Amino acid sequence: MRKQSLQFFENICNAPGPSGFEREVARMVKEYVQPHCDEVSADKLGSLIFTKHGASKKPVVLLPGHSDEIGFLIHAIHESGYLKFYQLGGWPDQVLLGQRLTILTKKGPLFGVIAAKPPHLMKADERSKVVTKDQMFIDIGCSNADEAKDMGVRVGDCAVPDSTFHTITRNVFKDGKKKGKATLAVGKAFDNRAGMFVAAEAIRRLHTEKIKHPNTVVGAATSQEEVGLRGAATAGYKTQPDVCLALDVDIAGDVPGIDRSQCANGLGGGVSICAYDASLIPNQALKEFVLDTAEKCKIPYTITCTAGGGTDGGAVHKVREGCPSIYLGVPTRHIHSHVGILDMQDLENLIELVVQLIKRLDAKTVESFTAI
Ligand SMILES: [Zn+2]
Repeated sequence: MRKQSLQFFENICNAPGPSGFEREVARMVKEYVQPHCDEVSADKLGSLIFTKHGASKKPVVLLPGHSDEIGFLIHAIHESGYLKFYQLGGWPDQVLLGQRLTILTKKGPLFGVIAAKPPHLMKADERSKVVTKDQMFIDIGCSNADEAKDMGVRVGDCAVPDSTFHTITRNVFKDGKKKGKATLAVGKAFDNRAGMFVAAEAIRRLHTEKIKHPNTVVGAATSQEEVGLRGAATAGYKTQPDVCLALDVDIAGDVPGIDRSQCANGLGGGVSICAYDASLIPNQALKEFVLDTAEKCKIPYTITCTAGGGTDGGAVHKVREGCPSIYLGVPTRHIHSHVGILDMQDLENLIELVVQLIKRLDAKTVESFTAI
């Protein structure tokens, strides 16, 4: 991957931006995409919208990738100086205890750790049970509420994982034989800085490589996806897309305890072309077009289905009179925890597929998706 692109990916992953607090991330994206776009604007719910015109005004191709990450909101400062929190997005209780956080206050970032009563003080039956969020608190090293307030904490402040981006490079072995190298990204917020990055990179490539496209491409760093696809609804309304490629992470199935019948893709398995999730059944003609394009361009892919969850596509496909939509993903391990892992080659493959699709999405093709 291009050095500046990787640096941008690292920067946006490290930046804090839970649902409702995306402005810093949106500004970083704005700075990156501005030289490559004709227009940059925003909706009124915090989504950044960046447009690149091609040979024709129509069709409008929307690439939503949500800018928010899952995080926490401080809802009370306990008299003992500990902070009580609600979740922003879905956190399983099992991954929370002992995790480091950054709390964002008006006075600046603070260090915190999620804690609960130690096991020594638990009754025998308590020890075998998962501690739930309502029993947890954030320790910022204070002994009373005045000290916490003095450090800058207020009810309504947010927090994100303290989890810094880095990469792992390793050899790839297939059937006992060495097959090149892989670079893996390790960090927080891949859900969904990865999808947002793909939208930004695809548009940057169209511009810098002077790639002709018969449409208008609109990237959208949408807000508040993790709390119910909220920014995609407003960004979708504003941009009036004719076709939508929703970009997000996909749950990697190459993890102990996950059956490949539930999550078909794994790291290095190429692009996830999602045939079903709880929020979206893709337009079938569009799905076939995506599969054909991946085959023609020899881009590795896996067809996946996800029983739960949803993406921005779930909101966009219902905007106005409807919009043919599909969700394309990057297999990512351990999503909705403090640290995810993905293969940079899968990310590159998704960027390439999106570029190839944009080159081919002319008015006639897009009209054919909804013709009866
Ligand atoms: Zn997501």
